[in-house]
Amino acid sequence: MDYEKLLNKAFSEMPERTETSERFEIPKAKSFIQGNKTIFDNFIQIASIFRREQEHLMKFLSRELAAPAQVVERKLVFVGKLGNERINQKIEAYAKEFVICRECGKPDTEFVKKQRFLFVHCLACGAEHSVRAKIV
Ligand SMILES: [Zn+2]
Repeated sequence: MDYEKLLNKAFSEMPERTETSERFEIPKAKSFIQGNKTIFDNFIQIASIFRREQEHLMKFLSRELAAPAQVVERKLVFVGKLGNERINQKIEAYAKEFVICRECGKPDTEFVKKQRFLFVHCLACGAEHSVRAKIV
């Protein structure tokens, strides 16, 4: 078999490309309560799936959950007892506000700062929308 035939054969055997239109699945927090603290186990993984600074996500969660937080040994530790469901609601809120593109729904976005304003720029479709610059 010559090269061209081999190539054709290879192509014909490739699976049909399907459009990846399925919605982005927001990752779930794994957390547990230890004494009077709550340990958010996969915090760093979730920040990296979101492609966001750990600091930014941490501030958001800490404020939204009204619980002081800090990263200890690659886990986020909250002071206070927080149910897993509550943390997940806030992860979802964060994703909707700061990560997912409002045009195409994809999570491949980055922050762009323009003067005092902060935008979410979508790497998939190029759309841009402004978000609050400060979490206070
Ligand atoms: Zn987009």
